[in-house]
Amino acid sequence: MGKKIYLSPERRIAPHGKYWGMELYEHDLCGDIAQKTGAALTKAGFQVKVQDDPALTMEARVAEAVKWGADCYLPIHTNASTNGTKEGTARGPLVLAYNHPTSLAACKAVYEALLEIYPEKSKGRGVQINSTFYEIIRTPMLSVYPEIAFHDNGVDAKWLSQNRQAIAEALCKGLCNYYGVQQGNEPAQDLLQELERERALRALAEEKLARIQQILD
Ligand SMILES: [Zn+2]
Repeated sequence: MGKKIYLSPERRIAPHGKYWGMELYEHDLCGDIAQKTGAALTKAGFQVKVQDDPALTMEARVAEAVKWGADCYLPIHTNASTNGTKEGTARGPLVLAYNHPTSLAACKAVYEALLEIYPEKSKGRGVQINSTFYEIIRTPMLSVYPEIAFHDNGVDAKWLSQNRQAIAEALCKGLCNYYGVQQGNEPAQDLLQELERERALRALAEEKLARIQQILD
């Protein structure tokens, strides 16, 4: 059985997250990318749940992911550097990680796959640790939190809207690379690598769970 990936695209509907110069909003685009990513992941052998209901809070989504037994929690967002009244100048992909080497490694794999398809590599923002977002610190499993590009910048907004399938495939490829899922003619990873990854993922989950328990106590 493949790993279980829970997808949580931006839940806030319009007017949140207007794409610069377009009648397009973050919830709609991220929901579309989540469906496409889900399809690609399913094809690659993962088990997938896409939760795109705007009425479901982050708390409810995380609870659902836990109950379902998700191995990986994947929010999908696009970014903004302004309040939307003027065009933002910030651009490029970014992936937010939990402060743990295992999370950083998985986020790096997804970031690198995104940067492969993003046209201006020098604008890439890399992997950054985030210690506040609910879907990062309250998920007791691996979380990978991509901010794919900036929707309040006209060039990025256009790229986002025109490259949904490629973005979905990049997110899938990043997770395949991290989990050692064989693609095309690539040689299979060896068992030792797989055991190492499983050990690292368990250590991450234990640390996250311990921190969550501290918060709840
Ligand atoms: Zn968002």
